[in-house]
Amino acid sequence: MKAFAMLKIGETGWIEKDRPKCGPMDAIVRPIALAPCTSDVHTVWEGSVGDRHNLILGHEGVGEVVEVGELVKDFKPGDKVIVPAITPDWNSLEAQAGYSMHSGGMLNGWKFSNTKDGVFAEFFNVNDADGNLAHLPEGMDPATATMLSDMVPTGLHGCELANIEYGDKVCVIGIGPVGLMAVRGAYLRGASDLFAVGSRQNCIDIAKEYGATDIINYKNGSILEQVMEKTNGKGVDKVVIAGGDVDTFIEAVTMLKPGGTIGNINYLGDGEFVKIPRAEWGVGMGHKTIAGGLMPGGRLRMEKLADMVMKGRIDPSRLITHRFEGLDKVEEALMLMKDKPRDLIKPVVTIKW
Ligand code: NAD
Ligand code: ZN
Repeated sequence: MKAFAMLKIGETGWIEKDRPKCGPMDAIVRPIALAPCTSDVHTVWEGSVGDRHNLILGHEGVGEVVEVGELVKDFKPGDKVIVPAITPDWNSLEAQAGYSMHSGGMLNGWKFSNTKDGVFAEFFNVNDADGNLAHLPEGMDPATATMLSDMVPTGLHGCELANIEYGDKVCVIGIGPVGLMAVRGAYLRGASDLFAVGSRQNCIDIAKEYGATDIINYKNGSILEQVMEKTNGKGVDKVVIAGGDVDTFIEAVTMLKPGGTIGNINYLGDGEFVKIPRAEWGVGMGHKTIAGGLMPGGRLRMEKLADMVMKGRIDPSRLITHRFEGLDKVEEALMLMKDKPRDLIKPVVTIKW
């Protein structure tokens, strides 16, 4: 079969590979909509998961089941499915402890385009199909549904990590697709003041539609000063970090009230240490919690979030700025993700067979 792969760090290309085999609990899926991710860019051009050779890229997709293993109960060939980016082993001890995303070791629930071939291929394997695949709701556009693989669950997980409660003042730092979904999640969890930090006009417009009450543009000065000014020097209850780097924690911890929580879903690619400002962290006694996490993955979450989309609570189609047709276009879509033109939020490739 034909597939688009990471050849080595910094290099991608089309390769031929054998169609994946189907284990007893697995499914083989043929993609009908695919989306590249910022994480694919980190993987190829920053070597974030280490060097990989001929590893098929991609972990966001919707497809049609073509084969299932003999132990799979709830899916059959012909079913349309949403595939989560994170596909844990649900019978692992880590999953039983509530940390499915770390099944088999830290971050090991993330398999596609990391420890196994990804979805940018004519066929791909989904482990633990009953636990990981989600039925595509009747009438849901497959392109929209690709946003349920990673963007929606990750943005919303940032709000879970930050433990956002009714009436909280919340700041979301970084409003790419993940941060925008965090803005929507914060709104749905009852944020009062909802500050969205960003500068691109299309992202600002969507942040407002999703429920942001204030836009903090770092081009208008320090984001910390702007947030403190807007909160009369008191700061916010919760922060979700979906953009930035190891230095972002300096601002996030400083703008947080005592007792507050930071939910970090941002990938930290550089720097030996995360910077926590000592005095602003209450000299170690400020009850300011920092929680960082990989999205949990799995079928239940994906099907619940799909229901929220069907009921109009979340409209992830707003994230899609570029549309392509045909598997061969995943290359162009990924290059867009790498080059990040200012009007890009997410590209999606749909495929007819
Ligand atoms: P993105 O690059 O499209 O968006 C990040 C945004 O943050 C950009 O608009 C950028 O301009 C902005 N930004 C950068 N530095 C900033 C700063 N100092 N202050 C404010 N804004 C800043 O990426 P994305 O697709 O939205 O993903 C966001 C992050 O989430 C990435 O690091 C990605 O790897 C990570 N991610 C994590 C998970 C997870 O499970 N935890 C899953 C998917 C993606
Ligand atoms: Zn992704």
